[in-house]
Amino acid sequence: MSQIKNYAYRLIKEKKQIAEDKVFYLLEELRKDDVFRSLESQRNGLTFEMARLRAQKADLGNRNELLKDLKEKISSRIAELGHSDDELVVKYACNACKDTGIINGTECECVKKLVYDLLRQECDNLVTDVDSFLKVAIPKETTANYANYLKLLDRLQEVFPNNERKVITLSGTVGTGKTYLASVFANAIMKKGYSAYALNSIQLNSLFLKYHLAPLQEKNEIFEELIDADLLIIDDLGVEPILNNVTIPYLYELLIMRKDKTTIFTTNLDAESIRSRYGDRIFSRIFNVNTTWALTLTGQDLRLKPKN
Ligand SMILES: [Zn+2]
Repeated sequence: MSQIKNYAYRLIKEKKQIAEDKVFYLLEELRKDDVFRSLESQRNGLTFEMARLRAQKADLGNRNELLKDLKEKISSRIAELGHSDDELVVKYACNACKDTGIINGTECECVKKLVYDLLRQECDNLVTDVDSFLKVAIPKETTANYANYLKLLDRLQEVFPNNERKVITLSGTVGTGKTYLASVFANAIMKKGYSAYALNSIQLNSLFLKYHLAPLQEKNEIFEELIDADLLIIDDLGVEPILNNVTIPYLYELLIMRKDKTTIFTTNLDAESIRSRYGDRIFSRIFNVNTTWALTLTGQDLRLKPKN
């Protein structure tokens, strides 16, 4: 299970605990009152007796009325003590799963929603409103072309995570909206309940270095999030310094470890610069037209041009 999902379950569990504690402490308080305590114990005794009689298929007599009467007395006593019956009902954040996160063995929608919200908080730089972005940020004459990219990514997110090509490389000069496209894609898959992890190449490089220097037993943990994320976005590949024995080998290793999961690169570099900077092995994993979506966004017309 991904870290973010673990965290979501922990939050849900905490919410459940808080909701239940509230009722528990109120009951404790009410029980300090002799009248309440006595009524409550009469009711419990009666309920127990009725259960026993039912099991024996015996006549309940007037016990139903007695129980009703006791319940009314309890309600009025609670009111006299300044509270209400309603406060004794546990208020779950999600009534469907009663804050367990699980309904009949399957994950409740509230978990997905929470994971999505958590990820959104993490990626608060992501733009979410596609239409207004197209109106504001993209020149009118190129909107239609740019929309082709969005359409392609939309098709990919529909089949995600079963998309055949696992690497998407968005290249182009500054201001062509690469990062935005990656963000749109990330938001789409997060809405489906998948996890996305975004970092820029400088942060990634620091992680590689940390991994390189870490004691063996700590190494896995450093890479965990990079490997676990259903979608990994590496923004601005090429601005990081190349660290000897670190940047290139670990980038390659990461690509191998994520061969069944989707990774998006954005870069200002063109294909040839990628090849000369990272070598053939990485180049072929990032720009191979048969196995990746290598798309170049051009500043002028943002046309969809699969890279050869
Ligand atoms: Zn739920």
